[in-house]
Amino acid sequence: MKSTPSRIAFIGLGNMGAPMAGNLVKAGCHVIGYDPVPEARATAVELGITLAGSAAEAVADVDVVITMLPSGHHVLEAYTGGRGTGLLGSAPADTLFIDCSTIAVDDARQAAALAVESGHRAVDAPVSGGVLGAAAGTLTMMVGAGDADIEVVQDVLQPMSARLVHCGDVGSGQAAKICNNMILGISMIAVSEAFVLGERLGLTHQALFDVASTASGQCWALTTNCPVPGPVPTSPANRGFLPGFASPLMFKDLSLAMRAADATDTEARMGALARAIYQDHAQGAGRDRDFSSIVQDIRDRSQLGV
Ligand code: NAD
Repeated sequence: MKSTPSRIAFIGLGNMGAPMAGNLVKAGCHVIGYDPVPEARATAVELGITLAGSAAEAVADVDVVITMLPSGHHVLEAYTGGRGTGLLGSAPADTLFIDCSTIAVDDARQAAALAVESGHRAVDAPVSGGVLGAAAGTLTMMVGAGDADIEVVQDVLQPMSARLVHCGDVGSGQAAKICNNMILGISMIAVSEAFVLGERLGLTHQALFDVASTASGQCWALTTNCPVPGPVPTSPANRGFLPGFASPLMFKDLSLAMRAADATDTEARMGALARAIYQDHAQGAGRDRDFSSIVQDIRDRSQLGV
C-alpha cells in the first residue's frame, strides 16, 4: 500500500461514515471524527476514532477532510458553516476535501468551487456497496477529481474500497453514482413486476429465476438482490427485507437523477416513473425496508386491482 496521509478528519459518523473511518484507523491513520449524535459518537469511539468537540476542531490540524453526510444541503452548510465558520474556514491551507456523500452533481461542483476559493483542493467520491461494504472495506468508489489530485485520493480511499474508478473531473463521481442507481431502481421494478406476473401465471419463483438469470433478463437486481425468497439465499427477501439499501435511499438517488435529467434536458421517462413508484413506497411500507420490498407493493396493488 502507498503512504496514506496520516491525519484525517472524518465528518459524519453515521451508518456508513463510522465503519469507513474505522477502516482508516485499522490502516494506521490518525482519524479525528465529528458527529453531533451521541449514538454515532459512541460507536466511533469503539472503532478507535478520536472525537473532536466540534467540526471546526476536528479539521484544525489535518491533511485531509472526508465528509459522509445525508444530503447536499448538509455538505454545503458544513463546508461554509451556515452562520458560523465552516470546515473551509477552519482547515489549514491546501487541505484536501473528499466528499463521499451522495449529493446532486451541481451541489458537488458548488462545494468543490467553494473549497478552491478558500485555498483548498476538493474532489467527490460517492460510494456503492452499502453498510456491509463500508464495514468490510470493499466499497466501490466513484471519483470526480482533477488529474493532479487522483494519486493522493487513491491512497486515502484505498483502505475503504475494493474498487475505485476515476470518472473524470469534479462532479463526475456523483454523475456516475446517480446514473448507476437510476439503472438499479428501474431494473428492480422490472424484475419485481416480472416475478408478480409469473406468480399470477402459475410460474414458480425458481423456474423464472433459472430462466431469466441465464437469459437476457439477467441483471444485479435479479441475481444478487433477488426480490423473492429462495433463489438467492443472501438477498434481503430472505430476511424480511431488512436493508440492505433502504427504499428512502433509492428514492433519494432517483430524485437526484431526475434533478440532473431536468437540468440537462434528458428524456428519462422510466427514471421519472421509477421515482414516482419509489416515492409512495419510501413513505409507506418500504420506509425501513430494503428497496427490493417494492415487489410487495406491486403484489398488493395487483390483488387490489389498482
Ligand atoms: P446516516 O444518516 O446514518 O449518517 C449521516 C450522519 O451525518 C449522521 O450520523 C448525522 O448525525 C451526521 N451529520 C449530519 N450533519 C452533520 C454535520 N454538520 N456535522 C457532522 N455530522 C453531521 O446516513 P448514511 O447511511 O451513513 O449515509 C451517508 C451518505 O452516504 C448519504 O449521502 C447516503 O445517501 C450515502 N450512501 C448510503 C448508503 C447506505 O447504504 N446507507 C450507501 C451508499 C451511499
